[in-house]
Amino acid sequence: MANSSKNDNTQAVRADVLDESLGATSESDETFVSEGDYAKLEQENDNLHMTLRKMEEESSLLKALFNKTHTELQHLKKPSLLVADVVSIFEGGHAVIKLSNGNRFYSTVSMNINDLEIGDTVLVEQKTLNVVGKVAQNGGVDVEKYVIVEKPSTQWKEIGGLDDVVQEIKEVIELPMLKPELFVKLGINPPKGILLHGPPGTGKTMLAKAVAAATNATFIEVTGSELVQKFIGEGSKLVKEIFSLARARAPTILFIDEVDALASARLPMGTSGEREVNRTFMQLLAELDGFKSLGDVKIIAATNRKDILDPAIMRPGRFDRMIEIGLPNDEARREILKIHTKRMGKSKISIAKLASDTEGFSGAELKAVCTEAGYFAIRRDSDKVNMHDFEHAIEKVASREESDDEEHVIFG
Ligand code: ATP
Repeated sequence: MANSSKNDNTQAVRADVLDESLGATSESDETFVSEGDYAKLEQENDNLHMTLRKMEEESSLLKALFNKTHTELQHLKKPSLLVADVVSIFEGGHAVIKLSNGNRFYSTVSMNINDLEIGDTVLVEQKTLNVVGKVAQNGGVDVEKYVIVEKPSTQWKEIGGLDDVVQEIKEVIELPMLKPELFVKLGINPPKGILLHGPPGTGKTMLAKAVAAATNATFIEVTGSELVQKFIGEGSKLVKEIFSLARARAPTILFIDEVDALASARLPMGTSGEREVNRTFMQLLAELDGFKSLGDVKIIAATNRKDILDPAIMRPGRFDRMIEIGLPNDEARREILKIHTKRMGKSKISIAKLASDTEGFSGAELKAVCTEAGYFAIRRDSDKVNMHDFEHAIEKVASREESDDEEHVIFG
């Protein structure tokens, strides 16, 4: 029977081999399995093979997971690194770094860092205080969001009564930007930056815009008080980024309004806020020092409070050219009034009389007088301003100024 089934079934297999693999006990060495059993075993074999593959996959996943947690563990065991700013760099892989508490150290810089610059933020080993890494340049701050970047169209002829100042700015900023070779030949260094000082509304911003327009430069405007108020802890970084933006967009006129908010000498350095302002100021000085005087970035700073400025900012090589922009005198007021009334519809008006009636007014106030006079004409339903409109306007602007002054007295 066994033999006949062997003959009948050409695909029969030796059962002892299968029994062995299945762990079955066989009474006879010559037992054979049917085709049905074979298919069952084959199915079982496939299942086992699949299970094996799954377990292998699982094993490699677990291995990867193990490696990841192991590496993470190793990282966590490492002591944290300190963050510091680079103050100066020396040959032979050394740098002076400054920690956030103000302490400075002369440290060794890892050989892997080869593009270190003053003002960079670096990672420092706690024990050795050696520099082992650099924090990415753009600390996530989109600097263009916080400064005004424009190509102004202000022309020199729109500025009245400041001929001497205009001439000086043309010589020290415009000419070196347009014809640097002239200065190279003569061997003179024009200033890197100028400081315009004087009362509010006297045309400081206008002058900076006009020089940018004349040199076809990008005009970047930043306000000192905003830098210190909005970017607590980030002011110095922002200064660095503003200067790199200025370099990237060169030729550039970088206008720093209210520079006294950054460069005030009277900060007692008691609070962390004051220390922060000081850090921002130090960064500004470092940036100025790193500039070439014949480069295509010029800095124009402006202040109404020259009296409180830290003398460090006026040292040679920084803002060593200071230009005073005072309130306009009678002749200057005439020129400013002429500029601002040029395009107005007007019946007979006396610019000379208006100039003498506006003693003590700034350029911005004279402009306000012209605008207000226009409104008085509109109220009269006229398209021409007359002397009465101007008289009312002068009164209005003067009383606005007085009430502003009173507020200053009350609120300091
Ligand atoms: P602040 O110190 O308050 O920033 P500022 O000195 O920068 O003031 P500007 O912003 O340049 O003054 O002037 C404000 C406006 O006043 C100008 O846009 C312009 O219309 C007018 N103005 C000021 N000075 C003059 C001037 N000398 N000639 C013509 N217009 C002037």
